[in-house]
Amino acid sequence: MQLSILDICKTYASGVKALDHVELDISVGMFGLLGPNGAGKSTLMRTIATLQSPDSGSILFNNSNIFKDKTNFRNQLGYLPQEFGVYPKDSAIQLLNYFAILKGITSRKERKSIVSKVLTLTNLTEYAKKRVSSYSGGMKRRFGIAQVLLNDPKVIIVDEPTAGLDPAERSRFLNILRQISTDKIVIFSTHLVEDVSDLCQDMAIISKGSVHAKIAPKVAIKQLQGKIWETATPDTTKSSLKKVVELSQHFNNTGHKLYRMYSEIRPNVKCAPVSARLEDFYFLTLQGGHS
Ligand code: ADP
Repeated sequence: MQLSILDICKTYASGVKALDHVELDISVGMFGLLGPNGAGKSTLMRTIATLQSPDSGSILFNNSNIFKDKTNFRNQLGYLPQEFGVYPKDSAIQLLNYFAILKGITSRKERKSIVSKVLTLTNLTEYAKKRVSSYSGGMKRRFGIAQVLLNDPKVIIVDEPTAGLDPAERSRFLNILRQISTDKIVIFSTHLVEDVSDLCQDMAIISKGSVHAKIAPKVAIKQLQGKIWETATPDTTKSSLKKVVELSQHFNNTGHKLYRMYSEIRPNVKCAPVSARLEDFYFLTLQGGHS
């Protein structure tokens, strides 16, 4: 199963170039689309969901152009936008039953079994009879996924699912996506590096409408091992002959400011080697790359 995004461009009427020659190959598993706000993530997701057309380029799903037969692709697609509506006073089980009918699952027995399955997958069985309008933000998002799963889509697109969730709900939600991604393509967008680091097999970093990197998070971290340094005195690094890229600053537990940097070789004796993190790769990529 393969989704190929080929040279997609999109400029809005306002003149904003939201997608600039985007190329991506996405296979089964969990794919993180990581980038700052305004990078073009939602535009790309809406385009893959066939809700808006690109100015140029094409998208192939298993070698078929998705824009040529939108209905066929939409039947295999589950899309969860950032805002997915205010729910009436119905319970999750009533709503899921209703959506299942809309999706053409007419047999009562089949519906019962599918609704029960998606409630289990999203850990909502216990709350199935509660009104969805009374759910917490995280539960509402899990309900959104339950709804998307009803017709067993092959491709699932979720726009910024973790925005506004507390850490426990965030990790619960991402684990559900991870579980369902064993036989599906699951693409989700985020501006949080932590969302991508542990769970995604693959990711792309997008900024100002362009893909700046497409790499497995594990490989990205491995590439930087031995090249990340911390020091309390950054000025001396300027004397280094090699390129040094300042990545971030933070305070250690004794209240001293530490500068974190990338360098192929140890910039100077005051720099200590530290373990690389995906965040380092992200900052480095956004700053224009590394060798
Ligand atoms: P992200 O999801 O990464 O935050 P978006 O795709 O929402 O990025 O936005 C990319 C750029 O396109 C931003 O500059 C945004 O203001 C602009 N944009 C998004 N949607 C529209 C629209 N419907 N009309 C005009 N500009 C838009």
